[in-house]
Amino acid sequence: MNITETIDKLRHLTQINRQANWLATSEEIDINHINVDNLELITANDKGYLTWEAGSHLKWLVQKFVIPEDLKGYPLQGLSLRLSLVWWAEIAQIFVNGKLVQEGDLFDSLARVLLTNSSQPGQEFLVCLRLVSPSHDIGALMKSQLIYESDHNSIDPGFVADEIAVLFNYLSNFEPDKLDFVEETVNKIDWNYVHNRNKFNDELNQVREQLQPLSNEIKQRNFNVVGHAHLDMAWLWTVDETWEVAERTFRSVINLQQEFNDLTFCHTTPVLYEWIENNRPELFKQIQASYQAGTWEILGGMWVEPEVNLVSGESIVRQLLYGQKYIKEKFGRITEIAWLPDSFGFCLQLPQIFTQSGINYFVTGKLHWNSTVKFPHGAFWWQSLDGTQLLTVMSPPNVEGVMTTHPITMTNYSVKWEQQTGLKEILWIPGVGDHGGGPTRDMVEVNQRWQQSPFFPKVDFTTAKSYLDKVNNIVENGLDMPIWDDELYLDLHRGYYTSHADQKYYNRRSEELLYEAELWSCLAAIIEGKGIDNEVKSNIKLAWKKVLFNQFHDILPGTAIKDVFVQANEEWKAVQSIGNTLLKSALEKIISYIQVPAITGIEGKSIIIFNSLNWERSQIVEIENNYEVYDLEGKQLITQVSHDNKLLFLADKIPSIGYRMFWLGYKKAKKEEAKILQQNETILDNEYLKVRINKTTGNIDNIYDKINDQEILRGEGNQLQSFKDKGQYWDAWNIDPNYNNYPLPDTELKTIETLETGPLRWKVRVSRKLGQSDFTQDYILQKNSAILQIKTQVNWQETYVLVKTTFPFNLTAEYTSYEIPFGTIQRTNFPKTPYEKAKWEVPALRWADLTDKNKNYGVSLLNDCKYGYDSQSDRLRLTLLKSPRWPDPTCDIGYHEFTYAIYPHQGSWQEAKTVQKARELNIPLQAIIPNNKINNQGILPPIFSGLNVKSDNLIVSAFKPAEAVNNNYILRCYECEGKSANLEIASDLNLRLGPAVNLLEEKTNDDNQIQPWKIMTFEIT
Ligand SMILES: [Zn+2]
Repeated sequence: MNITETIDKLRHLTQINRQANWLATSEEIDINHINVDNLELITANDKGYLTWEAGSHLKWLVQKFVIPEDLKGYPLQGLSLRLSLVWWAEIAQIFVNGKLVQEGDLFDSLARVLLTNSSQPGQEFLVCLRLVSPSHDIGALMKSQLIYESDHNSIDPGFVADEIAVLFNYLSNFEPDKLDFVEETVNKIDWNYVHNRNKFNDELNQVREQLQPLSNEIKQRNFNVVGHAHLDMAWLWTVDETWEVAERTFRSVINLQQEFNDLTFCHTTPVLYEWIENNRPELFKQIQASYQAGTWEILGGMWVEPEVNLVSGESIVRQLLYGQKYIKEKFGRITEIAWLPDSFGFCLQLPQIFTQSGINYFVTGKLHWNSTVKFPHGAFWWQSLDGTQLLTVMSPPNVEGVMTTHPITMTNYSVKWEQQTGLKEILWIPGVGDHGGGPTRDMVEVNQRWQQSPFFPKVDFTTAKSYLDKVNNIVENGLDMPIWDDELYLDLHRGYYTSHADQKYYNRRSEELLYEAELWSCLAAIIEGKGIDNEVKSNIKLAWKKVLFNQFHDILPGTAIKDVFVQANEEWKAVQSIGNTLLKSALEKIISYIQVPAITGIEGKSIIIFNSLNWERSQIVEIENNYEVYDLEGKQLITQVSHDNKLLFLADKIPSIGYRMFWLGYKKAKKEEAKILQQNETILDNEYLKVRINKTTGNIDNIYDKINDQEILRGEGNQLQSFKDKGQYWDAWNIDPNYNNYPLPDTELKTIETLETGPLRWKVRVSRKLGQSDFTQDYILQKNSAILQIKTQVNWQETYVLVKTTFPFNLTAEYTSYEIPFGTIQRTNFPKTPYEKAKWEVPALRWADLTDKNKNYGVSLLNDCKYGYDSQSDRLRLTLLKSPRWPDPTCDIGYHEFTYAIYPHQGSWQEAKTVQKARELNIPLQAIIPNNKINNQGILPPIFSGLNVKSDNLIVSAFKPAEAVNNNYILRCYECEGKSANLEIASDLNLRLGPAVNLLEEKTNDDNQIQPWKIMTFEIT
């Protein structure tokens, strides 16, 4: 017999598959009066699974087990008997002899049910499983196996079979020359003794002794075990349930730890600890005690486990700042481990952001989910744009739904890990997850049993930190580690950049609003000459924490059930309300300090135009149509009345993080009416561009750049291309990889009208039908701007349809540049490797850019709340809407509003200042007409710059109150063009640059020379 045959033969002495013997019904049954005649035998599919229909359908499975005298001759009397089950069901209830003994669900999806501690031949067990299929998928029972086991202090044939299997696996892969010896040895088993348990076990023990010398080889390896329980803040359940699940999970761990003193457990998510602290204080104290004892580990450092492709760099900083601060306050020290096991891909600047937040290691397991490309590394240096390298480790994959301590699963993984990384130190994180749960008693007991085996690696309960320290040590002692200097792209979930557009809209608006609210609140406090109000400070933090919570990796991605979004939208609205109140109050406070110069001869009042961005800018603003507009010298400005009766004027040269006052004279003449030039074509025209809209399709025929004499389009622009996008199991998460093969009919033009052709703005409105949906788009071209805006309103009524706007360009670009958190990434348009080819839909923040190096000319496509792009060398597409039906069957049905814009430019995106233009689209100027009489004794001039950082490649991402209890402020900026910069600040408030700090606001030794792509933070005094 070869080794595998021996292993199988041994297993059959104590283990038996029972998949073929289940009786089933779809009717509800009375557990105490089961009529077997109403049940039918259910047959397994090719995979051996028992399945039934999707849609929360019930299935009862019933089977009677009678303990025989022996299995293949091996006596069973006195052994324990377990029924090992694996299911795929949203509800699983297991009844033994009429009693409910265990429950589970989609996440708690396996069990080893103890039927008896001491088997007696003839003993009967009636097992009934009540299973309900998931709403979105078929239900299944994948495994049902009876396992007889000896007391864990002794052996049984199944256990020895697993020992030999473990040995066989390691030797086959690392020392195949020793296999002959193993085969020879196991062939010495005298199977004639199988009927006599003691004698047969002696046989097995003799074999084990002879194999003992091989133990040393195996024992060089070490499983570093930490219990874990991934817990989603909301997903197929709402947040209320999450608190309950957290409590249940944490109590279960604390109870197990009382019995198993060395059991360690790790968990992330400060917001959960905060809830426990406030609502279950006694449990919180137990957790703190376990932390002090070294058996409870806090990981992650972020407020929740967020989505990190679709959020701003500043949001990631706040996740870490508030998260680490909480951990330090409550547990004494920050964590060194960033832990995002489940987020859907990771942006390129994370190593820098993490490192600047006290993090030394990053752990994720999500890249195991890649669908076509296997991620090549298990442990590697992950390098961000600025060159920061972070030790990054892939956590083990969850092959069975739940990570158990099954020795074969662990061995299979460790062999692959060692082959991939050269590391004999292996991380293992058993526990039920997604919906909490954590390690079970059975996992701990099985683990302990294998700890004793000579044919299994060392097994220690430890912490993730001590594991990662060990790895770091091995690397420092010469283990060569690969470097990965790209994003960590998840080759699977690409639809989540677009699903649930309301979340994306609120996220972008909230991030921008809080930037403005915080900035102006700080400047107002500085102007007032006192420290920032505590209430203001705590409201800013409160609003940020709401944003951070909603950035959780199933909320912002739009991949949860409907009720989750109903609640999330309440939170987003609260953020809007807090932010707007703070901003309004700050601006009004500042206005009250402005000295108003007299403008002779014009009766009227002032208007203050605020610019929240750190460069001077000019933009058309809209106000009520009651005025004439003058500059401070009393010169009347050109105005235009819009089609909806607003007055437009060009607010020119508004200083960096500052304002400029204009003067509004009361209108003497009768109201101006909107005038439209008569024209035969639908065109938009200004000093930069001439744009022609097609009268039959509503698409753009031409975008002609007058300054550079370039026609940008090589086909119709802004075609709304729609596709069938169906059949993905992960519906809201994914886009059908073949969607391009399923185009849907073109849009149908309903109306096209020219609304404005004035001196300041031209506007053409196009209404189109796409399936059952209505798209109304305003093409807008303003004076003083080379940007064509497309302001869009949609009534979306589609199911399983994806819609993209497409722009074919007269360009050939080697790669496309995209904005990512605190930086830019280049993705090739000529993909060669499978990994490059997998990026057929990619995430980006406010813009993407295609620049033709030979022509020295490019086009940027900007957006105000969209995140999914795809690109070719001569074409850019922006994904506008998607309509998945799981987990939220109402996803995205209804009204949407968003704007995107085309920005043709000479030179690179850096030269064209695309970063700045995209921010301007997202953060318009604020126009305020003060209600109250202005204080003529004011101390502020009519033109004012609160802050200017001098270098035009530095973007201010935050001006905030310091976390420390002092009256200092914090300025954060990042270098946005990949070249160095020198930070010098100028300010009409005499602000001075203090010492550099890290993202946790602790002092560093950095100076104000800023390297390419660096994020720099300073105290301001
Ligand atoms: Zn998750």
